[in-house]
Amino acid sequence: MSPRPFPTEIVLIGAGHAHVEVLRRHAMRPAAGIRLTLIAREPQTPYSGMLPGLIRGDTDFAAAHIDCARLAAAAGARLIVAPADAIDLAAGRVGLAGRASVGFDLLSINVGGSPAMPAGGGVAVKPIGQFLDRLAAIEAALPPGAPLAVVGGGAAGTELALALAWRLGARARITLVAGRALLPAVPEGVRRHIARALAAAGIDVVLGEALGHADGALALADGRRLAAAAALWATGVVGPPLLAQSGLRCDAAGCVVVAASLRSVSHPAVFAAGDCASLLGMARPKAGVWAVRAGGVLAANLDRAARGAPLHDWRPQRRALVILGTGGGRAVAWRGGWWLAGGLAWRWKDRIDRRWMAMYQHLRPIAPPGVHCD
Ligand SMILES: Cc1cc2nc3c(=O)[nH]c(=O)nc-3n(C[C@H](O)[C@H](O)[C@H](O)COP(=O)(O)OP(=O)(O)OC[C@H]3O[C@@H](n4cnc5c(N)ncnc54)[C@H](O)[C@@H]3O)c2cc1C
Repeated sequence: MSPRPFPTEIVLIGAGHAHVEVLRRHAMRPAAGIRLTLIAREPQTPYSGMLPGLIRGDTDFAAAHIDCARLAAAAGARLIVAPADAIDLAAGRVGLAGRASVGFDLLSINVGGSPAMPAGGGVAVKPIGQFLDRLAAIEAALPPGAPLAVVGGGAAGTELALALAWRLGARARITLVAGRALLPAVPEGVRRHIARALAAAGIDVVLGEALGHADGALALADGRRLAAAAALWATGVVGPPLLAQSGLRCDAAGCVVVAASLRSVSHPAVFAAGDCASLLGMARPKAGVWAVRAGGVLAANLDRAARGAPLHDWRPQRRALVILGTGGGRAVAWRGGWWLAGGLAWRWKDRIDRRWMAMYQHLRPIAPPGVHCD
């Protein structure tokens, strides 16, 4: 691979879980000949593992967010707070809403995704910032005991329904619309445990495909209409339209197809990681854990691409530990067929989440060049 211009302009779109690690590594060990720009939609980027805690009220905003300005400053990166709204691959520029575009030599995309849902069909759980505001508005207008629907029978939808039940108590009657099956890919014992937790929280589980929400009801594909003052969606994730619109090769869900190096298979100056990326031949569930794990490889490969050095291949783990908070200081954790439920599982999750956040919220001073800090 031929070396890039000096300095190489690397533009990061999205302050997702992989990009915060790219920035942390630059803060720890600045690389010569690289100029970094972070384009972030919000000045504070949320950690979705703590979203249920934010909804329940046992986590506050500061604990669940990373300050992009602080992180960018530690990494010596320029920060632009604006949504990227176009990628011009031929010109090497990223378009920004209401601002001048930004040029790049190398581009990295970590913008996450949003639930696949019909237009106007309800409220999407992502973007998280908008979701919290919209939830507060729904809550303020909710008549006592009103029906609410949560759409999505995976871990995210289930945890969201439990967190809402904890927050709203008798103020709402929650129905979880779980598609063809509740938690289809988890061990049977975990499913039974979570089904009991849902029942104890007063949440009804309905199987069926939700089509959309209008006139106080959620329409299902089999013709049923469930009364619902609002429908909150936490279904499978699709990539934002700007990815496919740019001409990058994307999969059926609009996520950028990347090789094991996290480089786009169609455009070698572009990398992608996290929910908005689709790893060729190694599909993994859309979960934060893989976005987190991709961060180190992405940081190394952006650096290597800037120097014209061969890229490393990533071999992501097949299975990951999942810990789902059930409320009241309890959680259920599982990996493969093994599982554990109760207060210990919750303390484990809480410790993992807080330790991860601390790496980005309390960065140590920049190490002298040449000292490697992992
Ligand atoms: C309720 C809930 C609970 C979850 N709990 C867990 C869990 O416990 N563990 C787990 O592994 N996964 C969990 N997930 C899944 C997890 O949310 C995602 O897999 C994870 O956030 C993906 O990380 P990411 O870095 O790809 O993207 P994100 O975390 O979505 O980050 C993307 C960033 O890019 C920004 N952005 C988006 N578009 C633009 C743009 N156009 N311009 C600039 N910036 C942009 C966003 O604002 C955001 O800051 C949960 C999901 C939900 C909904």
